[in-house]
Amino acid sequence: MLTQIQGLHHVTSIASGAQENNDFFTKVLGLRRVKKTVNFDAPEVYHLYYGDEMGTPGTVMTYFPFPNARRGRPGAGEVSVTGFAVPTGSLDWWADRLQLFGVKGLAKETRMGAQRLRFQGPDGDGFALIEAEDSRAPWTGNGVGADHAIRGFHSTDLRLKDQGATAELLHFMGYEKTETLGDVSRYVRPGGNGADTIDIETLPGAAPAHQGAGSVHHLAFAVEDRAAQIAVRQSLLDTGWQVTPVIDRDYFWAIYFRTPGGVLFEIATNEPGFARDEAPASLGQDLRLPRQHAHLRDVLEAKYLEPIID
Ligand code: ZN
Repeated sequence: MLTQIQGLHHVTSIASGAQENNDFFTKVLGLRRVKKTVNFDAPEVYHLYYGDEMGTPGTVMTYFPFPNARRGRPGAGEVSVTGFAVPTGSLDWWADRLQLFGVKGLAKETRMGAQRLRFQGPDGDGFALIEAEDSRAPWTGNGVGADHAIRGFHSTDLRLKDQGATAELLHFMGYEKTETLGDVSRYVRPGGNGADTIDIETLPGAAPAHQGAGSVHHLAFAVEDRAAQIAVRQSLLDTGWQVTPVIDRDYFWAIYFRTPGGVLFEIATNEPGFARDEAPASLGQDLRLPRQHAHLRDVLEAKYLEPIID
């Protein structure tokens, strides 16, 4: 069993519009944009990162906004809900705020003793704010103070037709099953980074999801450094997983593998982080390009990347 995985590092999803996406995460949810760059594999598309002050692993929601992307179809084999931790007692305030901004799909519910507020992102993305005791320091601003602000990820829901092989994988990754309630089983990484809970919802009859705008593209799990990542990669290979080579993503190193339930997993390093190429005070403000795409700046800005007005 692996001991290096600490919980989530980031969650990456697909959006249809960069401006709308930016406004939702910064002006409605009150996160900080910590990086404005491009998809390293398709540089005509932005890669936008939102999180706490420094983009601490376990707080970072990222997006590929493809202009006019068609909406995904929810179903089995995907992340159905991305959950953020908020302070206990803050959900009524959030419900009022989200309603004021015209956010769709608002619904309060309770799961395993915790109050949750479900809502949809601009492309129908499945989100929840979940009340939790969470000591992580929040980013504040845009009308969201420390009494209410998001602390980072609380948990993500995987919706699967069959949880067996994925549950086994999570166990191998260091997660322990703690509770089952109806269709949902909870897996927790003990001593994790706060973003250390995965809920698997098993729906044998569900139709397969179709990926598109509003769908999660992949879930990234955090390891401390490159040595830990190499050890994890070797263990996964030894266990029969098809894992990519280590890829330099400038702000972390990444490896990827497809899980049996259909969800794409990544293992990302906590090092070097988002302050690698920008001062902490101005993280996320300017377009940063990786070295291999730096020569494309003029054409990307003129033709492909819509200006984002903050
Ligand atoms: Zn990623």
